[in-house]
Amino acid sequence: SGRWALHGKTALVTGGTRGIGRAVVEELAALGAAVHTCSRKEEELGERIKEWEARGFRVTGSVCDLSARDQRERLLREVADRFGGKLDILVNNVGTNIRKPTTEFSAEEYSFLMATNLESAYHLCQIAHPLLKLSGSGSIVFISSVAGVVSVFSGTIYAMTKGAINQLTKTLACEWARDNIRANSVAPWYITTSLTEKLLESNSFKEQVVSRTPLGRVGEPGEISALVAFLCMPGSTYITGQTISVDGGTTVNGFC
Ligand code: NDP
Repeated sequence: SGRWALHGKTALVTGGTRGIGRAVVEELAALGAAVHTCSRKEEELGERIKEWEARGFRVTGSVCDLSARDQRERLLREVADRFGGKLDILVNNVGTNIRKPTTEFSAEEYSFLMATNLESAYHLCQIAHPLLKLSGSGSIVFISSVAGVVSVFSGTIYAMTKGAINQLTKTLACEWARDNIRANSVAPWYITTSLTEKLLESNSFKEQVVSRTPLGRVGEPGEISALVAFLCMPGSTYITGQTISVDGGTTVNGFC
């Protein structure tokens, strides 16, 4: 039934060409949603859109750097044009990391991570609000991280941006409940993507990660996109303000 489908829904998924974002685009499109996505690399975005069209998915995309305010505004104008001013689903997925000791971060690196991971998601919520309100049952999903829930070896700035996303989720969920817009946060542990490829190539690093993970392995992008899709479906309409870890049990493992 319609409880487990997204037919007729419109979605914006940021950073959909690789990794978790790509899995989310494909999951939502396969469930019937019309999806718009974005990334900075025009060629890769074009290739993905061709693949998605060949699979019968309704996906369009914009080249844009989400760390720039004017490009976020342009993206939302394109989304409003494509979907007639109505957006049901906003998935704030774009995020990145620089790992180093706290005393070594430059002011530029601080601003770059804040702009990419936190300010972009915050501003997209602001400018998407009229479109989500028009939906009548909007759903915002943030891709956060276990690093925003507990202390892990991620670097402090990344952890701060993800912790802020989790609090934004709670406060926004309450503020926008009156517009029937829900907000939830999905917090993954290590997932095999282009972001973690190099790190996980190191056997000692991967061993350290896996040894703390009760399920004894890292995760796959499809294990994140499944929850994201559920949080956008009619079956989850009473869930809002939550941060849900998808982590093979890592955050509840007090004895590692
Ligand atoms: P990837 O680096 O593999 O993919 C990121 C995607 O976002 C790409 O499509 C990339 O395309 C796009 N992107 C990156 N920066 C920008 C930008 N400034 N403007 C527009 N598009 C951008 O990352 P993951 O899939 O691993 O991560 C996705 C999210 O999941 C992030 O928020 C990350 O923090 C979070 N996460 C990931 C974990 C993991 O283990 N992988 C664990 C916990 C959280 P392009 O580079 O061409 O712009």
